[in-house]
Amino acid sequence: VSSEFDLIARYFTRPARNAVLGVGDDAALIRPSPGMELAVSADMLVAGRHFFPDTDPELLGRKALAVNLSDMAAMGALPRWALLSLALPEADEAWLAGFSLGFLTMAETFGVELVGGDTTRGPLNLSVTILGEIEANRALRRDAAQVGDDIWVSGELGGAALGLKHLLGEAALSGQAADDCLSRLHDPMPRVALGRKLSGLAHAAIDISDGLLADLGHILERSNVGARVDLESVPVTPALQEHPHLILACALAGGDDYELCFTAPVSLRDRIIAVSESVPVRATRIGSIVQAPGLIVADDQGKSIALPISGYDHFGTSTPPSD
Ligand code: ADP
Ligand code: MG
Repeated sequence: VSSEFDLIARYFTRPARNAVLGVGDDAALIRPSPGMELAVSADMLVAGRHFFPDTDPELLGRKALAVNLSDMAAMGALPRWALLSLALPEADEAWLAGFSLGFLTMAETFGVELVGGDTTRGPLNLSVTILGEIEANRALRRDAAQVGDDIWVSGELGGAALGLKHLLGEAALSGQAADDCLSRLHDPMPRVALGRKLSGLAHAAIDISDGLLADLGHILERSNVGARVDLESVPVTPALQEHPHLILACALAGGDDYELCFTAPVSLRDRIIAVSESVPVRATRIGSIVQAPGLIVADDQGKSIALPISGYDHFGTSTPPSD
């Protein structure tokens, strides 16, 4: 039976390259680049709440880091270091091998170094802390939207939520549609490169983890503004075309897509398109920031539609779990 220390050495210790000192001491040592601010964020994935306990551990390892990378993307920061805190019901080496492979491969892809963490016995729980760097005063903050800004989203929305409905037996998908949606759910690709290029261009940004309406709502609240969104212009995953009655639930209120929602001055439309093509990732204008508080979603006639649904609030009582 391996000790905690053997497990850490085998699965989570790699030579430090970006850090002054990595895994193995009482603390890691990192040296931020001159002139940069540190962006720091934590995200926890709890078995039974954020994922099914029998999820492929390699995909789970990727996603545990991906959701944190997405927070760096939403700030416009360059992710650099991560800490991983694990509660494990048992020392299941096959699970750990898969999980660490997924986590460390994702880390390698994004140039992030695992510099420390904690490992303990307990109900399965994965907690990642990520540190990134951002040029001073260039972060994409939630409180920076301005009246008149365009509202943009990256990629396409609704795939992850539709994939979850498929797994729960609430929507039948097959072939390519099933593959696409399940991959959006289990293996999201954070928009780090786009976030970097938007820093200094966009005003406010957020990553869509709880649903477009809920997450855009955070920007509106923090910026003290309102928004008007054109339903027709929201880019939805192609699989939703077969399930039009689920567009509101999946693309507007569904979580876990990890696309970016951001606002930018109208004068920068061409720049935003050029930047998104250089990544490349699709960027779509879906509406505008307005003075009057509140979020209006308009149909193709320009009429405001009723929104009985909102994103998932972990402590709320009015919405069913969607993540
Ligand atoms: P301490 O007793 O100081 O908390 P630990 O025994 O918990 O130290 O951890 C030993 C070293 O291993 C530390 O450098 C810690 O950051 C690192 N570590 C522990 N668990 C993990 C993990 N899951 N991933 C990466 N590093 C880890
Ligand atoms: Mg410890």
